[in-house]
Amino acid sequence: AQLDTLDIIVLAVILVGTGAYFTKGKYWGVTKDPYANAFSNANGLKAGKTRNIIEKMEESSKNCVILYGSQTGTAEDYASRLAKEGKSRYGLETMVADLEDYDYDNLDEISSDKIVMFVLATYGEGEPTDNAVDFYEFITGDDVAFSQSADPPLGNLNYVAFGLGNNTYEHYNSMVRNVNKALQKLGAHRIGDAGEGDDGAGTMEEDFLAWKDPMWAALAEKMGLEEREAVYEPIFGIVEREGLTKDSAEVYLGEPNKMHLEGTAKGPFNAHNPYIAPIVESKELFSVKDRNCLHMEVDISGSNLTYQTGDHIAIWPTNAGQEVDLFLSILGLDSKKDTVISVKALEPTAKVPFPTPTTYDAIIRYHLEICAPVSRQFLGTLAAFAPDDATKAEMAKLGSDKDYFQDKISKNHYNIARTLSVVSSGKKWENVPFSAFIEGLTKLQPRYYSISSSSLVQPKKIAITAVVENQLIPGRADPFKGVATNYLLALKQKQNGDPNPEPFGLTYEILGPRNKYDGIHVPVHVRHSNFKLPSDPSKPVILIGPGTGVAPFRGFVQERAKQAQSGENVGPTLLFFGCRKRNEDFMYESEWEECQKALGDKFELITAFSREGPKKVYVQHRLKERAQEVNELLEKKAYIYVCGDAANMAREVNTVLAQIISEKRGIPEAKAEDVVKNMRASNQYQEDVW
Ligand code: FAD
Repeated sequence: AQLDTLDIIVLAVILVGTGAYFTKGKYWGVTKDPYANAFSNANGLKAGKTRNIIEKMEESSKNCVILYGSQTGTAEDYASRLAKEGKSRYGLETMVADLEDYDYDNLDEISSDKIVMFVLATYGEGEPTDNAVDFYEFITGDDVAFSQSADPPLGNLNYVAFGLGNNTYEHYNSMVRNVNKALQKLGAHRIGDAGEGDDGAGTMEEDFLAWKDPMWAALAEKMGLEEREAVYEPIFGIVEREGLTKDSAEVYLGEPNKMHLEGTAKGPFNAHNPYIAPIVESKELFSVKDRNCLHMEVDISGSNLTYQTGDHIAIWPTNAGQEVDLFLSILGLDSKKDTVISVKALEPTAKVPFPTPTTYDAIIRYHLEICAPVSRQFLGTLAAFAPDDATKAEMAKLGSDKDYFQDKISKNHYNIARTLSVVSSGKKWENVPFSAFIEGLTKLQPRYYSISSSSLVQPKKIAITAVVENQLIPGRADPFKGVATNYLLALKQKQNGDPNPEPFGLTYEILGPRNKYDGIHVPVHVRHSNFKLPSDPSKPVILIGPGTGVAPFRGFVQERAKQAQSGENVGPTLLFFGCRKRNEDFMYESEWEECQKALGDKFELITAFSREGPKKVYVQHRLKERAQEVNELLEKKAYIYVCGDAANMAREVNTVLAQIISEKRGIPEAKAEDVVKNMRASNQYQEDVW
């Protein structure tokens, strides 16, 4: 493998940085610690690793590779589960691989006794996930160039495919669909159906489970595999490090990588390396007691981060203390929470998802998604380690009975610790190998927020507008609380002077590992998006953003106000905003008035308050009332933007738009729908929905 200049610079930094701790390093100077893992190498750079997937499979004696394209960790998770199941049930020698880590031009050289699985999430508007962009462009390209020139090029490739999508988006599961089509065109042989999981219907896990059994049967038949009794084998070994305590300098207490551990964090800041950003402002936007919406600003001037109006910021959350404690407690790990451990992959292709040596507390607090929905399959795996026979039987039932699982677990929004606790009636689960949790739970994921400021107005300060997740669940005593937003709420309270914030009774390690977030900071990175104002400000824009969907439009309107103040010719700017009541959740009300002053008759705010009148009024109703004007603006090539709720609002806006076009232009609805489709294709109609 080659090292480019960036690798060399980063390696040089690491060499200098590690010198202080490791004087006897042997490989690149970083591995004196026999348990050190990839996180020594910050920024996700993998020095000296092969990008040749065939070579990798050969050197590690694998006959099945599961390639994943993942944005939020679910696809990665499913890939690991397939790997695990392939090994334990069928004796396949499996490995999981990030699409970003390998080249694809030799996929034609994979022999027909091997199997390649693709687990591909579709992101946003039918886009590949960040780590799958290059692969997607390669495989769907017009003239794919493989290393050999066989005909058909992929005649030897046997593959399996599963997609993760959301049916509320226009391009449902387009990644798996398009990749599947491309592979077939290239002569590859699919085994089983190309599965599709639907997050929109909330059936992702069930779709995956329903797809994989027939797939395994088809695969076993095709490859002549014999099914065997699945026995759990840990992928990670846990070693207690007796010479170390949580105060030892080399122990990770939640620092995301080695540079952060050593206090030498520097850019590029990205999904592998967050910037610990100072919070410079935070306030509540709602004026009701039971709901919270935060406005928060972070300062990026100390970093080389940049953003453009319409981009997203990722917040790296920490789990709440109560949830960490419950998790430690049900596993019987309370007394070991600060024990220093190293985690080592027992098989060469597996990656430990966090840096070590570390503590149980740090892993659970900073690195695992312990509050997420529970996987039914995972409960089946854990059954073997139940503290008694009754619990074991109950776990097996939950693992195999979809409706029962829905009724007992999903419906209540239980997370893994609560599930274990409820099923065993509080008996400790002391026999589960900790590896099972590292394997079975997703890595704690950064949450994305549409930046609510304009980079023209404040290039070095990023604003976030986030509604706090706090839902009453029928039949459950305490409300369900979201991970990142309640953490942000605690940060807001702290920033406003509360020394010990406890939003809804939740506490956080708010000062971060080794108090590194004191002051007060939050880890972030920026993700660039295509949700952009037209480059010509004189073009009219129609912005539709109810609730927190208004976030990016605060940035858009700020930007146009500034342009107008600088004497630019700014076109009409229509903002449709909706919320429950004017005096409860009408965010940024006074700011819109300021923008109005700057933009004059070029700006109009159209509001829909759903709970003020006898009938519920939403933005799409207002849009319809303005049909004439909306159509005229569209004919003048206005850009239309929709942000917020993907499931209902964005869909209805799409429908209403087609109705308006049909009615005002006197064309059939089907034709109007095509007009809307073309607007999307040409970026005249853009969505930022979640
Ligand atoms: P989480 O803990 O992640 O929970 C989120 C949801 O997952 C819950 O409501 C629930 O439905 C489900 N869930 C979680 N755990 C369980 C469980 N154990 N059982 C059952 N269900 C469960 N949000 C904003 O407020 N403002 C924005 O500007 C914004 N912009 C976004 C832009 C993009 C591109 C994307 C992808 C999302 C955006 N979001 C925005 C949403 C945001 O990223 C978060 O999803 C949201 O804030 C909730 O995060 P959380 O960690 O608090 O909740």
